[in-house]
Amino acid sequence: MDDALSPATRLAYDETHFANAVVPPIFQNSLFVFENFAEMVETYAGRKTRPVYSRGLNPTVRAFEEKIAALEKTEDALGTASGMAAISSAVLSVVRPGDRIVAVEHLYPDAFRFFEMFLRDMNVTVDYVDGRDIGAVRVAIPGARILYLESPTSWTFHTHDIKTLCDIARAAGAVSIIDNSWASPIFCQPATLGCDVVVHSASKYLGGHSDVVAGVIAGSAEFIGNVRSTILPYLGAKLSAFDGWLLLRGLRTLSARMHEHERSGLAIAGFLADHPEVIAVHHPRLGGQTPPGLTGSSGLFSFEFSPNVDIPKFVDALRIFKIGVSWGGHESLIVPALVTRAQVGGPNSALRFGVPENLVRLHIGLESPEDLRADLTQAIGASLK
Ligand SMILES: *Cc1c(COP(=O)(O)O)cnc(C)c1O
Repeated sequence: MDDALSPATRLAYDETHFANAVVPPIFQNSLFVFENFAEMVETYAGRKTRPVYSRGLNPTVRAFEEKIAALEKTEDALGTASGMAAISSAVLSVVRPGDRIVAVEHLYPDAFRFFEMFLRDMNVTVDYVDGRDIGAVRVAIPGARILYLESPTSWTFHTHDIKTLCDIARAAGAVSIIDNSWASPIFCQPATLGCDVVVHSASKYLGGHSDVVAGVIAGSAEFIGNVRSTILPYLGAKLSAFDGWLLLRGLRTLSARMHEHERSGLAIAGFLADHPEVIAVHHPRLGGQTPPGLTGSSGLFSFEFSPNVDIPKFVDALRIFKIGVSWGGHESLIVPALVTRAQVGGPNSALRFGVPENLVRLHIGLESPEDLRADLTQAIGASLK
């Protein structure tokens, strides 16, 4: 497709190669057979690229990968079975025992656990820095193999100057990897800011309907080719054809959904900022500023209650907001930071980097913001101490 087309057009458009179908079919196949001996030899010799077995290449998954590469403005992309598979595969394709990673604080908690539990055992160390402190990143980076970023960060929603940080990584010979799940390519295209590799939990906004767990890695043809040939075939965390098809369906409305999440998210964040029982709102664009590198905001942010609010009571009093992790779907969700205290199973980034106990995370879905505001108002009223 034409490079000059806007993201909204790219997302709504599907190639109609098959039977003039406006929606591409699902290639629900493990296997693709060869015409003859010569074609098999050409393929195995690497002179011909074609689907052989869906752990490697599947046409439905490939259509999703091409769409993401176009949106992220990278040469190529690779679908994975989850966001964590995208993160672990991208990182494992770079690090070797003895290497060091510099990562920002307040990472997505399972990425943090992967670093702390897996990589440590491989003799890969991770140093965490406050990504807002450019000087601290500059000091930490020499000798590091990877600069690992998430902007905004999980729970605290700190934003970073992605371009400056990626420039620092490049000058030091480190590969920059960023988790772009929060902004989606609609509101941030990190590759255009100098970031080497972009990873997503496609389970969130890219899928958008809470019906798929998937991930994607976007980067140069060389980086993706290396993950495709040295990591994915052996760890095996490949995106399935059906999930790829669901993602193609989700992507058609990504632009419309993101603008709605943005509008409603800002409306609810503004309402909370004015509420007498709320002492802080952590939303990257509250107050009208737009952090560098972002062109918009999604529906996920956090806020802090005054001590007058009984948080468990508040959570239970909500009628529209559902209690749950994940985010990026049509539904509004709440997670109180209090639950991270109770969580078992390895190191917890929220605890390690100190998230206040009065913090609450909201995902603003596609319901009417007036109804969501009324729900929050009645639940706060019902939970005052
Ligand atoms: C959910 C999430 C992930 C992990 O994605 P899965 O698809 O659940 O494996 C990674 N990063 C962020 C920021 C997330 O919210």
